[in-house]
Amino acid sequence: MVIEKADRPRVGGFVVALTHQAYFFAEEMGLLPLLAPYDLRMASSSYHDRHGSTLLTLDNSVMFTGLGIVQISRDDLALALFAEAQKVAEIRTDDSIASITHQDGHAQVTFASGTEESFDVVIGADGLHSGVRQHVFPDTEYRHHYLDLYVAAYKLPNVLGINAKFETHMERNRYMAVHSTIGDEIGAVFVWDGPGAREVPDGPARRDFLLGAYRDTAPTIAKVLEHCPQGEGFYMDALAQIDMPTWHKENCVLVGDAAWCLTLFSGRGAAAAFAGACRLADALAEFDREGAFRAYEQETRPIIEDIMPATRNAVRWYVPRSITNHVLRDGLMRLVPNIAFRQYFKMKYSKV
Ligand SMILES: Cc1cc2nc3c(=O)[nH]c(=O)nc-3n(C[C@H](O)[C@H](O)[C@H](O)COP(=O)(O)OP(=O)(O)OC[C@H]3O[C@@H](n4cnc5c(N)ncnc54)[C@H](O)[C@@H]3O)c2cc1C
Repeated sequence: MVIEKADRPRVGGFVVALTHQAYFFAEEMGLLPLLAPYDLRMASSSYHDRHGSTLLTLDNSVMFTGLGIVQISRDDLALALFAEAQKVAEIRTDDSIASITHQDGHAQVTFASGTEESFDVVIGADGLHSGVRQHVFPDTEYRHHYLDLYVAAYKLPNVLGINAKFETHMERNRYMAVHSTIGDEIGAVFVWDGPGAREVPDGPARRDFLLGAYRDTAPTIAKVLEHCPQGEGFYMDALAQIDMPTWHKENCVLVGDAAWCLTLFSGRGAAAAFAGACRLADALAEFDREGAFRAYEQETRPIIEDIMPATRNAVRWYVPRSITNHVLRDGLMRLVPNIAFRQYFKMKYSKV
């Protein structure tokens, strides 16, 4: 049984990538033909300074040669997986877990809707703010590593006229990435410095919060901000990674952002969540519960522990605080040969 808190799959999101191991798992499960119509096949990724001048352009056909990759809107991926899962599992939306207790080798779950059921295994794949994590692990057994940054994302009409492109517009302590979608819209993601960033405002107040953070921004960013949703909520959060010495306890196990949350700076959050879930499923098919949890952790943890610190280090490259680091970053992006960046990204995407 799958329990989803929202009343329908969340939309309005951003592009993610299934790369390398995640791609091969998707291939093995026969999912690639289902995802193909949504594959964005971005031709290039480019980086621009505050004045709109190009710092770096990467040709994706060269960069991704020999690498399994599907670039897809998180919405389209979620909807496709949701449709497939419905064929084999009961999916209950608009519900969540209210409490979990352990009895006679089973997890006794009470749902917010009031029902109560018993399960052999409970898998928490419920994201950064995981309810399963909070129910099962005392807060002394995990730690949020806050990155002191905010993130927001929404979709808008293609006011920049981009096609099959991923563009990042970088300032000193903030940036905006925009990308094509399979429809007429584009997706925009904003990341900005927020020392002590923990909570974000709700609903309509998000608009003022975002516009306040991007006062006096570059013209391209301002154009996209003109289309910031009014009178409704859109995605916004404080960026954090999760540190936990173990991802399982009793009958429960965590996967994806609920367990580690690499954040968007890794570029591999979705791939890691997907590949982790596949490894867990394989292990559950092969071993008893305890053995499966151990095998899943043993295989997955080294990959996550390699990416986590590298991602933390990347943060101040994308959002430098000092003018010196900002000037240095832009200079390096202009001067370092394109091939060095291509190889860096290719190596990065070959790790999950
Ligand atoms: C702006 C942005 C850009 C990103 N860019 C990339 C990228 O380029 N490449 C990449 O690979 N990754 C990227 N990521 C990261 C990626 O989106 C996540 O790592 C990935 O979605 C994690 O998947 P998940 O299933 O673990 O969690 P989520 O995608 O967060 O899904 C969790 C699900 O659980 C549901 N839920 C939450 N709480 C409960 C509850 N209590 N009960 C029941 N259901 C619940 C939610 O509604 C949701 O459906 C980006 C993330 C952001 C925010």
